[in-house]
Formats: sequence, C-alpha cells, structure tokens
Amino acid sequence: MRKDVRKFGISDKRGRQQTRLDPFTPQETMKDPSLCMSCKTVYQNNHWQLNPEEYDRLKTKSTTNWITCPACQKVAAGYSEGIVTLSGSYLWEHEREIRRILKNEERKAQAKNPFERIIRRQRQGDKMVIETTEKKLAEHLGRVLHKSHQGVLDISWSGDPDVCRVTWERML
Ligand SMILES: [Zn+2]
Repeated sequence: MRKDVRKFGISDKRGRQQTRLDPFTPQETMKDPSLCMSCKTVYQNNHWQLNPEEYDRLKTKSTTNWITCPACQKVAAGYSEGIVTLSGSYLWEHEREIRRILKNEERKAQAKNPFERIIRRQRQGDKMVIETTEKKLAEHLGRVLHKSHQGVLDISWSGDPDVCRVTWERML
C-alpha cells in the first residue's frame, strides 16, 4: 500500500516541483505477472513487491514474464535521484555504526517500496557519498542519521534533472 501519491506538474506541500518524468517508470503495458530476474521483485495485480513466496510460486509458471525491473535498470545505469554526502571526523570514528544504519534503513525502505535502493556507497576523500535510486530514500537516510547522531543536516531538492541532495556533517 502506498501512502505517498505522486503529483506531476504541481508543487506538493513542501513546494517541491516535479520537473520531469522518471525515464525508468514502468510501462503501463507491462505483463502481469512479471518477475525481476536480478532482485526477485514481483509485479502482480499492478503492484510491485518483494515477496519470496510469490516469487517461488510464480517462477515455475509458463505465464510468468521475466524482466529487469525499473530499480535494477537504474542501478545498472548508475542513475541516481538522490545523493547523500556525509562528512566530518565523527563520521569516520563511527563509520561501522553509520554504515550499519544506512544498510538497515535501505533494507526497511526496500521492503516497503522495492524501488528504493542504494546504488553505491563510496569514499571520496574525507567524505562518504551514497547514491540512491529514489529522492525519498536520500532524504530519509539524512533524517535518520540526524535523528540518531545529530550533526548538521541540509536537504535540497533542485536541479535539472531533479535530484535530492543531502549533506550531513558532524565534526566532534
Ligand atoms: Zn529488480
């Protein structure tokens, strides 16, 4: 069940503007049911979900269509809608704990929406940069870190293409 409703062409309550359509948006002509051959996401009854039991049931049926889901296409293309940049000496002193939080939050987000993924997580100089498939996940990761480890958080939704940029820094 989705709580968020995408509104195209109008600003939502925080004044964000949808400036373009996601090129990886699933086609309406998608065959139902379909299974993603990489991440095992199930598309059934117009709904995407991670459901290992349904995957196992459907994978043996001849009527099942095999696809690469939009999220796996984004990951393969390195197409990020969210960029989270973490910095500060506190980050590296608590690197293990912070990596654990990021991983855990990604897992929880993916269980709710299989299209929310971390594409890559890498160190760039003294910063840790995390790229996500969805803007919402980038914002979420920033907010969770800020809540659990304080620091200074900045979230901006701007640019063309429309990307959510999150920075979080804690020095001590
Ligand atoms: Zn997939």
